[in-house]
Amino acid sequence: MNMQAQRPPLLEVKRNFELKTTLVKASSRLPLPGSKLKRGPEQMEDALEPAKKRTRGLGAVTKIDTSRPRGPVLSTVSQTQGPTAAQKGPKKTGPRGCATVASVLKNPKAAPAAPAAPAQKPGTSAAPMVAGKRPGKRPAWDLKGQLCDLNEELKRYREKTQKLDQENQGLREQLKEAQEQATVLGTERNTLAGELASVQTQAEQSQQKLETLCARVLELEECLGTKERLVQELQKEKLELQEEQKALATRLEEQERRLQASETALSSSEAEVVSLRQKAAAQVTLLAEQGDRLHGLEMERRRLHNQLQELKGNIRVFCRVRPVLAGEPTPSPGFLLFPHGPAGPSDPPTHLSVSRSDDRRATLTGAPAPTTRHDFSFDRVFPPGSKQEEVFEEISMLVQSALDGYPVCIFAYGQTGSGKTFTMEGGPGGDPQLEGLIPRALRHLFSVAQEMGGQGWTYSFVASYVEIYNETVRDLLATGTRKGQGGECEIRRAGPGSEELTVTNARYVPVSCEKEVEALLHLARQNRAVARTAQNERSSRSHSVFQLQISGEHAARGLQCGAPLNLIDLAGSERLDPGLALGPGERDRLRETQAINSSLSTLGLVIMALSNKESHVPYRNSKLTYLLQNSLGGSAKMLMFVNISPLEENVSESLNSLRFASKVNQCVIGTAQANKK
Ligand code: ADP
Ligand code: MG
Repeated sequence: MNMQAQRPPLLEVKRNFELKTTLVKASSRLPLPGSKLKRGPEQMEDALEPAKKRTRGLGAVTKIDTSRPRGPVLSTVSQTQGPTAAQKGPKKTGPRGCATVASVLKNPKAAPAAPAAPAQKPGTSAAPMVAGKRPGKRPAWDLKGQLCDLNEELKRYREKTQKLDQENQGLREQLKEAQEQATVLGTERNTLAGELASVQTQAEQSQQKLETLCARVLELEECLGTKERLVQELQKEKLELQEEQKALATRLEEQERRLQASETALSSSEAEVVSLRQKAAAQVTLLAEQGDRLHGLEMERRRLHNQLQELKGNIRVFCRVRPVLAGEPTPSPGFLLFPHGPAGPSDPPTHLSVSRSDDRRATLTGAPAPTTRHDFSFDRVFPPGSKQEEVFEEISMLVQSALDGYPVCIFAYGQTGSGKTFTMEGGPGGDPQLEGLIPRALRHLFSVAQEMGGQGWTYSFVASYVEIYNETVRDLLATGTRKGQGGECEIRRAGPGSEELTVTNARYVPVSCEKEVEALLHLARQNRAVARTAQNERSSRSHSVFQLQISGEHAARGLQCGAPLNLIDLAGSERLDPGLALGPGERDRLRETQAINSSLSTLGLVIMALSNKESHVPYRNSKLTYLLQNSLGGSAKMLMFVNISPLEENVSESLNSLRFASKVNQCVIGTAQANKK
């Protein structure tokens, strides 16, 4: 409002306006960063030039308006004019000036530009702004004075401008520096950010490592605990071991002491051993001598034994009378008598008397039937009641002869039911007391063979068991499909030119103990039972031949001996009653009986021929004698049991048997020779 009051005339205003425009124009260039002053003070003079310059200036006003907010200019003004002037300035300006003030306020460094204020509002007098420095207003007409003032003012402005330029320059440099610094700091910041990131990564890694390490530490602590326990245990163990070591050391010392003692004893023992060895060597020599002597004695024993047997007779006959069985009629007293020998009752009986009454003569005369007494004498007579053991004792010497290498044949002869099977195999029920000759003879052989083992003899035994029925040979030891079939066997020579006989299809079983023999006898009984028929007790009608081939060897002396032991249960010797009617069964029976009688008489004939030393011995006349030819005659020894029934009803058959046996008993077969190889 003041400005309007002081407003000069239009022309002045116009000039002022032009001036201000120029001024503003000049000053407006200052704040531009990087801009240079294009005109010096002289050039400013040109600004006062009218017309076209004015026109140019007007154009520049618009330019100034837009560039007003430039800070450095305002800053400079504030510095020069102080806060009071600066505060006053805005009050005189219009809305445009307010904008400038606002921009200045925003930037404390940019003080409101007092000189610019007039430029913002054309026509406003500049006088108040320099009122303090001018002595007073010049009258309007004092143009020259005004011009002077203006020039002075211009001068001052120029100085200010210079100062401001310098300051601006300084500030630019500062800014540049600050920018550079900012760039450096930015770079540094980036670097630091990068470093920070890497440090963080490292920190994370370290954290992870730390966690891993913590886990590891825990693990190790646990492990340490275990190890510590282990160490404790080991220490405990160590202590125990130390104690044990001590004990062992003590024992070791003791053992060493004992060892020393033992060594001493050993050295003395060694000396003793040397002397004992010498003694043993002497004993060995002595033993060898004694062995030789023993062998000589054994040979002598065999010779004497054989001589004894020969003195007793190479053919011996024993008579055995079986006891009366339960249910059988008791024979009349005196029917059978067993007179004792000359040495009295203790002398074993060798005689038998059979008294037979002639009933026919008694009937005719009416007188008591006369009795005929038949006396028989044998090598030994066994009355009823004689035990199996006693019987065996008598034949054990013969069994010994078989071991010594002499063939032995033991026959059981007699009518059916007289006790042949009982004598050879034994009684029923497996009672050991009732065991017959076969099991007893084999047991004896096994035990003697074992004893002879001590003298260097080794024995082996092979058994066979066949029956001869109706002149056919059948194996009693057959097993499996051949069992009971009675597959025919043939008697053949063991080889061309061989004296030895063998039965084809028959089993030859090596035996070495009683049990094996028992099994064989059991098997033979089974085979006989299978062959039995209703009409015919076949075992009574056939000869059973148990053969045991004995082989002995004295390896050290290169001696061998071998001989068969034959135990024969002959078929019943009874004859058929000629008065009996011959039915179909009887006809068969007759044929059987004829075969039996034929073979038994052949046996008698063979014995006779051998006894009479006939050139021809009819071995081939029967299968039995053919099979036994190597065990009859010559070096062989023969024993015949004649089994007698104690019953009176059997007296006829008994007498027949006794007569046959007596004939055999009278035979003497030449000196037997042992089968020594
Ligand atoms: P063989 O074989 O001669 O036909 P056995 O041996 O079968 O006769 O005997 C006929 C019966 O007489 C059988 O029951 C048998 O047990 C019995 N026996 C035979 N001899 C004696 C004896 N010495 N002691 C007791 N019983 C006997
Ligand atoms: Mg019999």
